[in-house]
Amino acid sequence: MALKDINFDEIKGVAKDVAGKVGEAAHDTVEKLKRKDILTAPFMVEMIRTATNMYDHGWDERNGGNISLMVDEAELTDYLDLTQVIREIPTGFDAPTLDGKYFLVTGTGKYFKNVQYAPEVNLGLIRIKDSGRTAELLWGYTDGGKFTSELPAHLMSHAARLEVNPENRVVMHCHPGNLLAMTYVHTLDEKAFTRTLWQMCTECIVVFPEGVNVLPWMLCGTNSIGEATAEKMKTARLVVWSQHGIYGSGKDLDETFGLIETAEKAAEIYMKIAHLPLLNTITDEDMWLLCDRFELTPREGYLAPRQA
Ligand SMILES: [Zn+2]
Repeated sequence: MALKDINFDEIKGVAKDVAGKVGEAAHDTVEKLKRKDILTAPFMVEMIRTATNMYDHGWDERNGGNISLMVDEAELTDYLDLTQVIREIPTGFDAPTLDGKYFLVTGTGKYFKNVQYAPEVNLGLIRIKDSGRTAELLWGYTDGGKFTSELPAHLMSHAARLEVNPENRVVMHCHPGNLLAMTYVHTLDEKAFTRTLWQMCTECIVVFPEGVNVLPWMLCGTNSIGEATAEKMKTARLVVWSQHGIYGSGKDLDETFGLIETAEKAAEIYMKIAHLPLLNTITDEDMWLLCDRFELTPREGYLAPRQA
């Protein structure tokens, strides 16, 4: 072949393409190397600790319970390439205000006791799109699994709580034994249920001055119970599911865990004393003193008007 037959432009083009691809691959590799291990991210560590702690409290037998934690995009960029969607999963409901939001969610059928040993199987990180109808999986559910069947109750509750408090990040569901037991023997009237819990431990009215809301028994895993829970979440961070468990929400995992822990402690006292003659209690006047001391407003109409 003579030199004149060589198409230098073509060679240059190929060389440019190759250089471009090598450059891209090198860039991707550098980006990957720069990325940190997501299992070391503070939100992930806290999620794993919380799920383990809930299991250790006996609140999440077998595959009972689920948690969703809203994560800000800025908390993720050091750990994940957010353009890499592993797969898309339909949610089956609308949640238009949550588009573009990221949630770390426990998986369906997964056991809380296993989260600490295999977080990437038992947890998944999703981004919501299509007015809530699609979840893009960005990390986790590595066995082909998906998010909890209670995602409607979780995402609808997130949307409801974010309207009341833009700081809300967590929705948590579990089956604490004493709260569950209480729904068999106590009226489900929300005011009466709240007042009983407030009377069982001095700290209760301080921890949840808005009280607890209560749903009657409903079929779980449905959009209906999701909508009913979200409606109840507008006025309280705790929603009891009768003969089933409780939903809690809060600005972080600690606050939400603590809310459920406090209500469950009160229910435990109630189940210890309900069958005994009651000689003493925390009176409404006592509770007004607590409200003054901690500068809080109890749920309107739940305490008898204070004496002059
Ligand atoms: Zn449940």
